[in-house]
Amino acid sequence: MNPPQRIASRAAIVGEDTPITRALPSRERRMVGAWCFLDHAGPVQFKPGAGLHVGAHPHIGLQTFTWMIEGEVTHRDSLGYEQVIKPGQVNLMTAGRGIAHTEDSVQDGERLHAAQLWIALPDAERHREPGFCNYPELPQLNADGFRATVIAGTALGQTAPTQVYSPLVGIDLTSEHSAHTTLPLDGSFEYGALVLRGEAVIEGELVRPGELLYFEPGRHELSVQADGPAQVLLLGGQPFGEEILLWWNFVARTQAEMEAAVADWEAGRRFGTVRAGTQAAPLQPPSLAGVQLRSHR
Ligand code: MN
Repeated sequence: MNPPQRIASRAAIVGEDTPITRALPSRERRMVGAWCFLDHAGPVQFKPGAGLHVGAHPHIGLQTFTWMIEGEVTHRDSLGYEQVIKPGQVNLMTAGRGIAHTEDSVQDGERLHAAQLWIALPDAERHREPGFCNYPELPQLNADGFRATVIAGTALGQTAPTQVYSPLVGIDLTSEHSAHTTLPLDGSFEYGALVLRGEAVIEGELVRPGELLYFEPGRHELSVQADGPAQVLLLGGQPFGEEILLWWNFVARTQAEMEAAVADWEAGRRFGTVRAGTQAAPLQPPSLAGVQLRSHR
């Protein structure tokens, strides 16, 4: 079996000025199962008067999956949902054929810490009607000193309520003191481990925030150890068998689909109107002219 692959995250900005690190997609790896976009936002202490503010923008072909650790953010979308997400909760928005949304800190000047993830929809599901759901409670159990929260799929005998459309899993492992567990894995899944806080030793590798540790399929267990307060996000899934294009806020299969989505956004078609609330301006896509999108698996 190949050793795990270490993938460095890169720094980026979302909204007006919220610093994040992006683990996927990267040059070395595009996806882990259907997970195709891994942003780690914060932890950041906003200055007075500042917060996360992301203006209206569209999505197609994916689900946005927000796992909130610190802070509160209001989601508003073009289906009419307005939902505050709090720590320990998941917001899951299914874009399907098209949806638009905004995200705003409930109060400026607070702390924010979250994982913002995208899940590619398989071909049979990607044109479905859009949807949104907040999940205030997720299964939790003690795993040898870690508090394990199953945020997607089934793990440790618990199944998350989050509605996903391909075989995948997400587990948060949080320790306050030293902890060491061996998690059973699905041998048909690939996995990625991201340290959100503190540091952890995963299969003998010391991992800190800012890198993703990738494991190819064929493993049946994973050793995770922390010497103190730490938080590890483990994501997995069956390797996604479809080539996708990922550009701006869209997951599609062809450049023509991207161009149609941009044209619909710019003309005010398809995506509807996000209910009022944000101060942030709507987002405009970068130009697709002359861009050759590279397929992506
Ligand atoms: Mn979004």
